[in-house]
Amino acid sequence: MTSTKKVKVRFAPSPTGPLHLGSARTALFNWVFAKANKGKFVLRVEDTDTERSKPEFEEDIKEGLSWLGLTWDEYYKQSERSGIHKEYLEKLLGEGKAYYCFCKKDELEAQRQAMLTQGLAPKYAGTCRNLSEEETGKRLDKGDPHVLRFKVAEMKIEFKDMIRGNISFDTSIMGDMVVARDLDNPLYNFAVVVDDALNEITHVIRGEDHISNTPRQILIMNALGFDVPIFGHLPLILNPDKSKLSKRKNPTSIAYYQRMGFFP
Ligand code: GLU
Repeated sequence: MTSTKKVKVRFAPSPTGPLHLGSARTALFNWVFAKANKGKFVLRVEDTDTERSKPEFEEDIKEGLSWLGLTWDEYYKQSERSGIHKEYLEKLLGEGKAYYCFCKKDELEAQRQAMLTQGLAPKYAGTCRNLSEEETGKRLDKGDPHVLRFKVAEMKIEFKDMIRGNISFDTSIMGDMVVARDLDNPLYNFAVVVDDALNEITHVIRGEDHISNTPRQILIMNALGFDVPIFGHLPLILNPDKSKLSKRKNPTSIAYYQRMGFFP
């Protein structure tokens, strides 16, 4: 990042459950970082998973953040931007950086098992990578079920994490990744890249459970010619036995603590 850019961070919850204690902590770090740098704090609701996203969870998240005093400067929902995501998916397809994949679930599973028995880390074998335009067109016309895959180049991706320092990732274990179910349904790693870039996010501060997504996102950023933001991956809140804080073991929703009489 060039130092002339104004700091802009985002908190990007998926409204698939109530505001979680761990997410609130991620939001807090982002908010404090924005304030400390006279920057902006964006609330982006990642509601592209239409089955699991619920308006009542979005309400709960907004209420929880407001109660905590974590006010936002900008707000938008990812689902409002599907036209923009589509444009960038088409760009990748047009430049030969992504392709339609028609492999069936059972074929993929058989490939996976074959690799495992050979002692290899399973990854997509690239079956549809070199389908001709004609063949692809025919199968799309026939209505064959498909996904969109991004061509992953085998290389080393390196980035300097604000918290964890230098991180290096070998993409050869990855295989071509699925970036969308179809042109109108992008998946997380793709939508996040387009939104972070167009929204001029300078620092991506999020839970460390996302660290393996970061090299994938950097690959897509590079392919689209976007600037790569600075990343900071926060350690997660754990139970005393070091297991992940989960709602099966502890109350994790902010609303619960509010009801129990805790102060923000
Ligand atoms: N929607 C993702 C989540 O809820 C956001 C991850 C990110 O900050 O990129 O975990």
